[in-house]
Amino acid sequence: MEETLLVVNCGSSSLKLALFDGQQRKLASALAERLNQSDAFARIEGDKQAIHLGPDASHERALEVLVAALRERNLMASDPTAIGHRVVHGGETFREAALIDDDVLSAIDECAGLAPLHNPVNLAGIRATLEQFPGVPQAAVFDTAFHQTLPEHAYLYAVPGKWYREWGVRRYGFHGTSHSFMATEAARILDRPPEQTSIISAHLGNGCSITAIRDGCSVDTSMGLTPLEGLAMGTRSGDVDPGLFDFLRSKGIEAEEVHRSLNQQSGLLGLSEKTNDMRTLCESADQGHAPSRTAIEVFCFRLARYVGAMMASLDRLDALVFTGGIGENSARVRERTIAHLQLLGFHLDANRNDSHGKSSSGHIESANSRFPVLVIPTNEELVIAREASRLASARNKT
Ligand code: ADP
Repeated sequence: MEETLLVVNCGSSSLKLALFDGQQRKLASALAERLNQSDAFARIEGDKQAIHLGPDASHERALEVLVAALRERNLMASDPTAIGHRVVHGGETFREAALIDDDVLSAIDECAGLAPLHNPVNLAGIRATLEQFPGVPQAAVFDTAFHQTLPEHAYLYAVPGKWYREWGVRRYGFHGTSHSFMATEAARILDRPPEQTSIISAHLGNGCSITAIRDGCSVDTSMGLTPLEGLAMGTRSGDVDPGLFDFLRSKGIEAEEVHRSLNQQSGLLGLSEKTNDMRTLCESADQGHAPSRTAIEVFCFRLARYVGAMMASLDRLDALVFTGGIGENSARVRERTIAHLQLLGFHLDANRNDSHGKSSSGHIESANSRFPVLVIPTNEELVIAREASRLASARNKT
């Protein structure tokens, strides 16, 4: 039977599907948005018409409708041979992807305390898919797993030890599928064995994180217990002084509201008071909107500081890599970031930087740069499909 791989990514109000063939070429993708709201809809990529799902449509209903639509269009002639699910938090239980069984389901449920907004909805997607495709091997691929190689000095916070021992308060890191893809793609481009390649990977999308990867393993990363720590992001603040909570309480703002503001009203949106979208921000900075320019400057400066911080975990650097919607597309962000890193020996070639990204990988450093700088388009869905295929064929061999 021809191999087909289905990738399922459930967000709090969205469901994304991607279908790959055995050569890991994408055959189709589909999306449902605004789930559990009054105007939920779904769409197969390439279709002009959206499918209205009716009020309060659940993830289960969206999956049913999208699978039926893929079948109707002959995009999914038979059941997939394996299914991969994105799961946000694997805690310390999962160091790699896992084939789903009852024990794995309970362990994901146990990790839900660490990611209450994400793991329950990931589980809902897995349960709906198990029902829809009984007997098809399914794999859980964790955002945190790649970072389980972090050494103790990088994952421990300097807080009372009991918090870690009793409640698991430590740095976990996220975006692991994207960072691990950068490790293998950078090694391929540099023509080095992945296990002998050391890079700094900057994933800059709506969420942003940076990871030091030494000889193929994650050794430091900017996100922590939750995906709020680290870089400035679209709507998330990244690092702030924890004393802010107490200070704002004295102004009558309770912890819950501070938490909401730091997650949803900060970052590029908070600074510009205009948008969380980097492309729009660059346009409005060009039109003279000073807060937009400031937001871009803060974003790039904080990113540059973290590049410096990541160097402390490496004994060699084979490349600094930019990825994610901003990292792949914004020559301006790359230029402003590298401008802060001259002392460390990073230099860009302006022409290469301007012409790169836009779905192609390549070098953007100048001849006098001490380190290569790469732009590599990320492909988290492909990593999940590969993991599902690997685990399913390992199971078939036993
Ligand atoms: P997500 O984390 O939701 O997957 P993406 O990786 O798609 O997000 O990144 C979205 C970000 O990429 C947005 O801020 C968007 O403005 C930015 N982006 C996309 N294209 C460009 C561009 N040409 N120039 C600047 N920013 C861009």
